[in-house]
Amino acid sequence: MTTTGMNELEANLASLTARFRDAVSNASDARALDDVRVAFLGRSGAVTEVRKGIGKLPPPERPGAGKVINEAVQALEGELTAALARVERAALNASLEDTIDVTFPGPPANTGAIHPVRRVAIDVARYFTRHGFAVVLGPEIETDANNFDALNIPPDHPAREGLDSFYLRPDLVLRTHTSPMQVRSMRKHGPPIAIIVPGKAYRRDAIDARHLYMFHQVEGLMVGRGIHFGHLKGMLVGMLRDLFGPSADVRFRPSFFPFTEPSAEVDVKCPACAGTGVVQLRDANGSAEVQCRTCGGSGWIEIGGSGMVHPNVLRSVGYDPDAVTGWAFGCGLERIAMKRHDINDIRAFIENAPGFAEGLA
Ligand SMILES: [Zn+2]
Repeated sequence: MTTTGMNELEANLASLTARFRDAVSNASDARALDDVRVAFLGRSGAVTEVRKGIGKLPPPERPGAGKVINEAVQALEGELTAALARVERAALNASLEDTIDVTFPGPPANTGAIHPVRRVAIDVARYFTRHGFAVVLGPEIETDANNFDALNIPPDHPAREGLDSFYLRPDLVLRTHTSPMQVRSMRKHGPPIAIIVPGKAYRRDAIDARHLYMFHQVEGLMVGRGIHFGHLKGMLVGMLRDLFGPSADVRFRPSFFPFTEPSAEVDVKCPACAGTGVVQLRDANGSAEVQCRTCGGSGWIEIGGSGMVHPNVLRSVGYDPDAVTGWAFGCGLERIAMKRHDINDIRAFIENAPGFAEGLA
C-alpha cells in the first residue's frame, strides 16, 4: 500500500519527465540540451524539488522513493546523451552540406589529345585514301642508293655530304626525306600506283625556331598511263582546301628538284591575312597595320615541293617513261601544323609541355 505522499511524488516525477522530454525535443543544439540538463537534473533543478517530497513520506517508504527517483534520473540522463549525439550528428551533416555537394560533377579527367603533327598526317591520309590512294610506311634507315641515286640525286650533290645527312655507314643513311619509299614501292609494284608516305625524315640541321634534326613529311606519288600535271594540281589543291578551308587559294611556282621535271613549289594563300601580308592589330591605343606573322608579310605560305616524276627515276625502278608518267609531291607536316595553329617555334612540337596538344585540340 502506498501513501498519498508517495502517489504525489510519483505524479511529480511523471510530470517532470513529461516536461523534460518536451524540452529535449525542442532543443536544437548541444548548448540548449545543456540548459535542459541544468534546469531538470542540476543541483537546483526540478528534480531536486521532487526529491524534497521524500522528506514528507513515512520513514519506511523513503529508501524506495529515493531509488525510484535515482532510476528515473538515470533514464533521463541516458535520453539526454542520446539527444546530444543526435544534434551533433545533425550539425555535422549540415556543415558538410554547406561545403560539399556530392552530386556536383568531378573535374574532367586529363585524357590527353592527338599531337598536332599526327593530326595533320591523319587528315592528309584521310583525304588521299578517300581518293583511292594507299598509305605506305617505310624504314627510317635507308640505303644511300635509295635515298639519293634512285632519285636522280647526283653523287656530288651537297645533301650527300656527311655534313648535311646522318650517315651510319658509307652506304647507309637516316633517310633525308620520305621519297625513297617511292622507289621501294615502284620496284615492288608495277604501274599504275597511287600512294602516300607519311613518316620521319632526318637532316643535320642545327635546332632553332624553324629547324629540327628530325621532322615529319608526307610524300605522294601517282604513276600510270596518261598522268599529267593537271592531276597533280587537282589533287594538291584539293588537299590544301581540305586542310585550310574550301576557299583556300593555291599557287604553283616553277622550281627545281633532281627527281621531278618540271618541278613546282606549292604555296597556299595565307589564311591569317587573306594574302595581303598585313594584319590590323587592335589594342587600347587604337589600331595599327603590322606585318602578318603567319606568312612573314609575303601573303603566301610555302607548303612543299612537287612535279612530274623525272624519267630517270622511272627508269631506275624499271618503269618505261615512254609508257607511263607520274607526279610526286612532298611537304613538311610540322610546317602545316604551325600554320594551322599559329605556332611560331617548331621546338614546341618536341618539348612535351603539359597541355600543349590539349590546348590545340
Ligand atoms: Zn599572312
